[in-house]
Amino acid sequence: MEQDKNTYDKLKSENNELRLQLEEANDTIQAIRTGQVDAFIVSGDNGHQLYTLKTADQTYRVFIEKMNEGAVTLNHEGLILYSNSRFAAMAGMPLEKVLGLSFETFIPAESQKKFNDLINNGWEEDCKEEIGLLNKNGDEICCLLSCNTLELDEGPALSLILTDLTILKEAEKELKLKNEQLEIAHNATEKLNNELEDTVRSRTNELLISREHFRLLANNIPQMTWTSLPNGEANFYNQQWYDYTGIEQLETSELPLEAVVHPDDLENTLEKYRASLATGNIFEVENRYKNGTDGTYRWHLNRAIPLRNDDGEIILWIGAATDIEEQKREMERKDEFIGIASHELKTPLTSLKGYLQLIASYKKDDLPPAVKTYIDKAVISINKLQHLVNDLLDVSKIQAGRLEYRLNQIDISELVKQCIENAAHIYPAYEFKNEAQPNLVVNGNAERLEQVLMNLVNNAVKYSPNNKNIIIRAIQFKDSVRVSVTDFGIGLSAEQIDRIFERFYRVEDKKYMTSGLGMGLYISTEIISSHNGKISVQSEPGKGSTFYFELPLLSV
Ligand code: ADP
Repeated sequence: MEQDKNTYDKLKSENNELRLQLEEANDTIQAIRTGQVDAFIVSGDNGHQLYTLKTADQTYRVFIEKMNEGAVTLNHEGLILYSNSRFAAMAGMPLEKVLGLSFETFIPAESQKKFNDLINNGWEEDCKEEIGLLNKNGDEICCLLSCNTLELDEGPALSLILTDLTILKEAEKELKLKNEQLEIAHNATEKLNNELEDTVRSRTNELLISREHFRLLANNIPQMTWTSLPNGEANFYNQQWYDYTGIEQLETSELPLEAVVHPDDLENTLEKYRASLATGNIFEVENRYKNGTDGTYRWHLNRAIPLRNDDGEIILWIGAATDIEEQKREMERKDEFIGIASHELKTPLTSLKGYLQLIASYKKDDLPPAVKTYIDKAVISINKLQHLVNDLLDVSKIQAGRLEYRLNQIDISELVKQCIENAAHIYPAYEFKNEAQPNLVVNGNAERLEQVLMNLVNNAVKYSPNNKNIIIRAIQFKDSVRVSVTDFGIGLSAEQIDRIFERFYRVEDKKYMTSGLGMGLYISTEIISSHNGKISVQSEPGKGSTFYFELPLLSV
């Protein structure tokens, strides 16, 4: 009985032991299944043996094979125990040839010491350093070499991880180059910027000086001055302008012409101002400005010139109004004097001419030839004088608004014929060509129109010393008759054309200086405009001129 009990207890404890072992085996299987165990040691006759689980080992192998870095393990002698394919590729050799080689063979001679120091250090502690790696072709690859010691079952080994720095180095080099270029560009920009700042500073200064110059000048000249923008808006008046007009501060930027210009001169002023803004031609007009203090008006000559930029665009109009009241008075006095003098001259001249005619006809057959010549010359001179006095009288009549005459129906072709006959008589050396259409009738004063045409013919002769051909035309031009006199003489420049219709204006050309007072074209202009016509000229220096006037056609 006692024996049975012992057997039972023994079996029971063996049973417990077996159950415990089974539980342990179950736990292990469970751990392997869930990946908590990579390897296990099995005790055998020859001692312990390490069994790695294939899947776990493979993970690391694949991982190391796929690494971008070269991985090797060295033993104490520096022989390669293990290498991944990346390192073999870096070395330029098949993987199987790499194994067993001394790692030193891949280190250039000049880096051997550095390498040895690194390896020695690597056995002590983790370390890394940049180093050159020689491949099979003798090319050097720049690498970062990291050393770590590994405690393997076979014994300690040194793991080397080699990171190829070539791309990094190239990128670094490129980056450095780019940085240098950037630096150069930056310096150049900075220099340019500084220069620009200097220029701006000096230009601003210049601008300030020139603006102050302008102000100083503008405020210290006796004229009233102003400037305006291309659209006509005024943006500056000088002190004289404010002082004279009595206007304190302008509320609008418009030229306040209505407030300062005489009402009778306003329309003409505005018309000319607008025309200049539209064409860019110089603005010039005489008008009366109101004195703000006493309300009286004084004559002023207004002139404005456009200031243009390099592209020729107008950027500013600079205007000045000069007081010409005194000159106007002087002119009036002079006109008055001319009027009186020419009137006083006319009567004795007429009697002188009459007496000369009497002398010429008195016993004319008995007169010695020399006296006859003197009388002829005296008659020519008196005719010239009479012509001059008549012109002077006309000018003063025009000034006084008293150039009056009666109008009749005139056939222009007849007028042309008459003038050509006269001219041919006076200027036998010249050839006058008649190109007048017949039956061109206008309402006019025959004497005055003949005066105009003869004046143009006289000028054509006077200013054509070399070519003696003159053409006189009369044609229908729209609703008008255009009468023209063409010569092939000295011609006129554009600037001269602008002024020749002014009173007493003569072209100052010493080479072609002829007698005259600059009244003919002025008188002609007045006569033609009082016939509701217009007079003008087309000319080219050295080629000749065509002066023409147009009159409204009466019957077509
Ligand atoms: P005058 O001939 O007496 O000087 P005008 O009023 O007739 O005065 O002419 C004014 C100016 O115009 C002249 O001085 C002359 O310079 C110029 N002129 C007139 N006609 C001609 C022409 N046919 N050719 C060249 N210049 C001319």
